[in-house]
Amino acid sequence: MSIQLPIYLDNNATTPVDERVLEAMLPYFKDRFGNAASRTHAFGWEAEDAVDRAREQIACLINAQPKDIIFTSGATESDNLAIKGVAAAAQAPHIITQATEHHAVLDSCRAVERAGVAVTVLPVDAQGIVDPSDIANAITDNTVLVSIMAANNEIGTCQAIGEIGALCEKKDIYFHTDAAQAIGKVPLDVEAMHIDLLSISAHKGYGPKGMGALYVRSRPRVRLVGQVDGGGHEKGMRSGTLNVPGIVGLGEACALAQQHLAAEAEHCRKLCHRLRDHLFNALDQLQLNGHPERRLPGNLNISFAGVDGESLLMGLCDVALSSGSACTSASLEPSYVLKAIGVGDDMAQSSIRFGIGRFNTEAEIDYVADRAIREVNRLREISPNYKNIRRRKADRGLSRLRGLRG
Ligand SMILES: *Cc1c(COP(=O)(O)O)cnc(C)c1O
Repeated sequence: MSIQLPIYLDNNATTPVDERVLEAMLPYFKDRFGNAASRTHAFGWEAEDAVDRAREQIACLINAQPKDIIFTSGATESDNLAIKGVAAAAQAPHIITQATEHHAVLDSCRAVERAGVAVTVLPVDAQGIVDPSDIANAITDNTVLVSIMAANNEIGTCQAIGEIGALCEKKDIYFHTDAAQAIGKVPLDVEAMHIDLLSISAHKGYGPKGMGALYVRSRPRVRLVGQVDGGGHEKGMRSGTLNVPGIVGLGEACALAQQHLAAEAEHCRKLCHRLRDHLFNALDQLQLNGHPERRLPGNLNISFAGVDGESLLMGLCDVALSSGSACTSASLEPSYVLKAIGVGDDMAQSSIRFGIGRFNTEAEIDYVADRAIREVNRLREISPNYKNIRRRKADRGLSRLRGLRG
């Protein structure tokens, strides 16, 4: 089977727009250009119908009421609205979150903290999991919100969302989850998982960029103050003329995700395991970052000891990938997510994130594995660092042997 270069393997950063999503959107850029708020003519009604349909498609994927879907410009805005909106509606609030959240959550928490809100950032274990009992112990009389992501964008770790939701429900605290990575990849159910607020991004799931949504439970009602003032769109929670083509795209992306969720997860998991096995069989001194099982089906984050991640990326110039230091783009600081799970600076600097998606093939995976193995071997040959790691390892082995004998 022939493959086309470059290969896109960075689906945790963004995904291509699915052809079917694009087809659904196109008419709303052309003939059906109406403003969904125009009540006096067919152009407006047509747009409103399309928006209503999308609301149903999105709600259906997470078992929510369509009227509880608020359209935003992406998961970043949804996270901001959830955290700042809940904080603004409460008296002397306390918010609980955890260390590997996306910057959209962590920085929103920092922002409300500067305004006097109490914030607790819980640690995670070596696999990136936050312990629900740590959450229970952190709850005070003032706690109004727990914000824990459904799945991590760097290491793919999936949190115990259902358990955390049940805990929050019992304590009468709102539960927000950033589901930008998880939606359409793993099953999500706002009822079964007791979720009150859920952030969605279209472009992580084969929809358009600059489009998102926030699920806001209306029964019982989440008290939330809108953060964008204006015409009072979206029940006053998010003013601004609706992005009708974007909304149609997000709706279609959700409908497709729902239709193919199980098969697609299987496809991604299979390719992921294939890549992992190729690499681990051919190379030593590798470390899988994140949880071995409780992870996104398409995410593989590996540290290649003795190899600089940036150099490896440069060597793999015909494959689109991210490194553990490239995530905060401009800076070459090791990733705070890897730090939070206890990965040392060296191993963090040598980590690569493989993001496998809907359109990747077995032939692509085999090509990438082959290229990566050759490139890692080449870099290790010229790496004094790797020789030291091997020597230390051998010394430890020897002294263990001596210890046994003595
Ligand atoms: C991508 C991402 C975001 C930001 O979403 P945008 O739609 O790009 O604003 C937030 N949280 C997580 C976990 C993400 O992966």
